[in-house]
Amino acid sequence: MSSAAPRLAVFGSVNMDLVAYVDEVPGGGETVTGTDFRQVPGGKGANQAVAAARAGADVTFLGAVGDDAFGTELRANLVADGIDASGLRTVPGVSGVAHIVVDGRGGNRIIVVPGANGEAGVAEGDEALVAGSAALLLQLELPMHAVVAGARLGRGLGVPVYLTPAPARDLPEELLENVDVLVPNQHEAAAITGHTEPYAALASLLERVPEVLLTLGEDGSLYGRRGEEPVRVPALRVEAVDTTAAGDTFCGSFAVARAEGRSAREAMEFAAAAAAISVGRHGASSSMASRDEVEALLK
Ligand code: ADP
Repeated sequence: MSSAAPRLAVFGSVNMDLVAYVDEVPGGGETVTGTDFRQVPGGKGANQAVAAARAGADVTFLGAVGDDAFGTELRANLVADGIDASGLRTVPGVSGVAHIVVDGRGGNRIIVVPGANGEAGVAEGDEALVAGSAALLLQLELPMHAVVAGARLGRGLGVPVYLTPAPARDLPEELLENVDVLVPNQHEAAAITGHTEPYAALASLLERVPEVLLTLGEDGSLYGRRGEEPVRVPALRVEAVDTTAAGDTFCGSFAVARAEGRSAREAMEFAAAAAAISVGRHGASSSMASRDEVEALLK
């Protein structure tokens, strides 16, 4: 492990999460009384950025917020975690919002309204923000043309490109050809490949990208690199309170550990500990562990 903190860039969404807690999710036309409500900063991009920052990286964030009160708060939240938000543009209109329902078993249902995220794109000056990073993390909550431009930017600069293919949608070849590490959960992997069995999905994905990190919820994670034996790491046993952002915590933490020179297995163990702490608490990025907490759990 090198002593200097690795630099990571994240180009992605930033949302205000409006979270309602309820014992049982209502069906169509039904109204139920919730047990709690929280307003917490989220968005897959911002969540991955906070996860990477708390895991010990120097993080630069690129994206867009609206010129509304949520936008001001969302920017301040990234800065509070030590993230360089100079690549986060403020555009006219509303910030991205996610309506999240968390049920009594910790499961979640999410509606994302993109708002300003729909205006995000690679802008002049972004090259300088990404150059020299140990990784560029992308997700699919921005317009596809922006994600493709981001992947091209990373590849052009020789920065390893991670893609979390969520929310699941068709992945154009012009995107995948510039992705180094694909990080789907089991549902996304099945949507892309048609395989629900993890090893079959992994093999299929490795035909399209050189490295895959497949997260399997409480069943842990599975990593594969073309031409190498897959690595399987179990999840830590915890009582799941809120699984929001488990995958983003896992991805951000894994990328930092890899940037520090750890093996895939070590990075998966580090990420599993970070994700386990996150699912044991309420919230999205607010529930993520500090590096010290993760190291303490691994001892
Ligand atoms: P996503 O949040 O994208 O759906 P997963 O559900 O696969 O992703 O979770 C990502 C990681 O978070 C898993 O690989 C695991 O390490 C951890 N995790 C998720 N759910 C649990 C759980 N119930 N108990 C312990 N760890 C969990």
